[in-house]
Amino acid sequence: MMPVPSHLRGAVRPRDTAIDEAALDAEVVCDCGSRRFDLLFPGETHEYRGQQIPCTAQINDRFFFLVRAHCTACGRDHLLFDKDFHGWDGFVCHNDAQASLPRPPLIPWKCLLCGKTEHEASVQIQTQGRADFVEGTEGEFDEERWPDGFEWFSMSITCTGCGKHTPEWVSYETM
Ligand SMILES: [Zn+2]
Ligand SMILES: [Zn+2]
Repeated sequence: MMPVPSHLRGAVRPRDTAIDEAALDAEVVCDCGSRRFDLLFPGETHEYRGQQIPCTAQINDRFFFLVRAHCTACGRDHLLFDKDFHGWDGFVCHNDAQASLPRPPLIPWKCLLCGKTEHEASVQIQTQGRADFVEGTEGEFDEERWPDGFEWFSMSITCTGCGKHTPEWVSYETM
């Protein structure tokens, strides 16, 4: 699997340690060892494959999408994804004006079946690989940062209350 992007080091545990350019699949794990989190998002949802999931929020003509994981055991927050900082558009095509806007308030996702906010989560990340990153960035970035220019960020989640599993709770193309 591709290396863990730098902003997620220490927050996720890959399911396989072999390094190549295949998609990353990793469990979200807090420093304290817990896998249980409240998942915070900007509050907007849309229907995807028959189910409501978080989507980009429009606030004063600006667009935001970010997800934080708040550990329910120790209280620590982990920023899992912010479209203005991570992936191809956020990292490679970084827009200082957009990124410097205050982030919108976030709310915890509630299970659609039982209403509980605590979940276990995993992230799936796809890349076009090192060669594509080097060609696309024309030498403006350290080649070793290629995992940070990923092209797709997804999450799957499982409610700790009722076990409801949502395989594509986030599916976000970053370019
Ligand atoms: Zn913790
Ligand atoms: Zn539930």
